[in-house]
Amino acid sequence: MSYEHVGSVTQELRQSLEAEHARQDQSLMMIGSENIASSAVREAQGSMLTNRNVLGYPDSRLYPGADSMDAIESFAIQCAKDLWDADHVNVQPHSGSLANLAVYLAVLDPGDSILALDPRDGGHITHGDDRHITSDLYETFYYHVDPATGQLDYEEIADRAKAVDPDLIISGYSAYPGEIDWARFRTITDAVDAFHLADIAHIAGIIAAGEYPSPVAHADFCTGSRYKTIRAGRGGFILCDQQYPDVVDTALFLYLQGGAALPNIAGKAVGFAEALRPEFQTYIQRTVTSAKALATRLSESGIDVVANGTKTHIVVINLQTSHPDLTGSEAERALEDARIVANKITVPTDPRHPSGASGIRFGTSCLASRGLGPEEMETVADLIVRALNAATDPEERNRIAQNVAALCHQYPISDTEA
Ligand SMILES: *Cc1c(COP(=O)(O)O)cnc(C)c1O
Repeated sequence: MSYEHVGSVTQELRQSLEAEHARQDQSLMMIGSENIASSAVREAQGSMLTNRNVLGYPDSRLYPGADSMDAIESFAIQCAKDLWDADHVNVQPHSGSLANLAVYLAVLDPGDSILALDPRDGGHITHGDDRHITSDLYETFYYHVDPATGQLDYEEIADRAKAVDPDLIISGYSAYPGEIDWARFRTITDAVDAFHLADIAHIAGIIAAGEYPSPVAHADFCTGSRYKTIRAGRGGFILCDQQYPDVVDTALFLYLQGGAALPNIAGKAVGFAEALRPEFQTYIQRTVTSAKALATRLSESGIDVVANGTKTHIVVINLQTSHPDLTGSEAERALEDARIVANKITVPTDPRHPSGASGIRFGTSCLASRGLGPEEMETVADLIVRALNAATDPEERNRIAQNVAALCHQYPISDTEA
């Protein structure tokens, strides 16, 4: 892409776009929440739809001239229903965060209580973190993973639920590599008469492909982001049971959001339609088998892999045993220098302070979208270990960066059309 139209307005911005393009092309992008949208998704997102201001839902818009918009949004909704077997779908949330907020606003009153996984154990900031608006609006309580195993402890969650008596319990996380027992959550929420929200932001694509259990039958609401494993561009979505469509839809529009972001809805329509094709399942299987291969190789190399492996696209490592002198931030910088991009994260055994992050979270979605598979993960794991060992050796990091660029060259981003 040449960005020539942008260049005719500002060369400075064009250069930044080109630099980012090159960076993506020549790095191992392993941020767990990222992916590579196809050209088709990007074409829809950059379309003439950006000229429209469309308020309301299909067939009940506030302004005229929305026939095509109705068709596009209805198409996205139908694809989502097919993908997740949901009764009702709202594709208008501008993000996964706002999808969560819409659900809270739909069913909770200020002062009601939420029980969710501690963000330091892999939960998301919108699940009641002190820095998020939810902590001002609602009373928020946390459950934890077992620090010894990195796994959810359902007994503890049930005990916490009884003690706290929350109005809403959230399952679904940002950095949890294990399998979630959604039915167990339903039992726990039923016992305390709470709503159950399953936040599938990360794993929506894996669920859609049938490679991870679906919470749809066990949750009142499911929320998600569209740019993670589902690979459908920017934005969020909400799935719900047929009991709730009106409260959810009115909480999102007009209470929380204004006009729909139609270019993004078109992007998601394309991404969802792609996800219904058999190629998508192949890509998801490649994503998950790659993550498993990566976890295995890292652990064979003496790295402590949290939860002992993965059932998703996410691999979390704990540096405390293999690299006690390296903080998460230092490891993140060493990796980035070697053109391996992944973020630091707190792990269950970290001291209870956000700056005490001593883990790194890797994701395999971008690599799988580019065509790398489990066979390449041995090489990728070895590059990661070399980079971690080279935190004080800039020359070695430089050599690794060259190896990374050579590997990336074999899997150009422009080939991710499927
Ligand atoms: C990423 C994420 C979100 C938020 O998604 P945005 O679209 O970035 O707002 C919500 N919940 C979880 C569990 C996430 O991982």
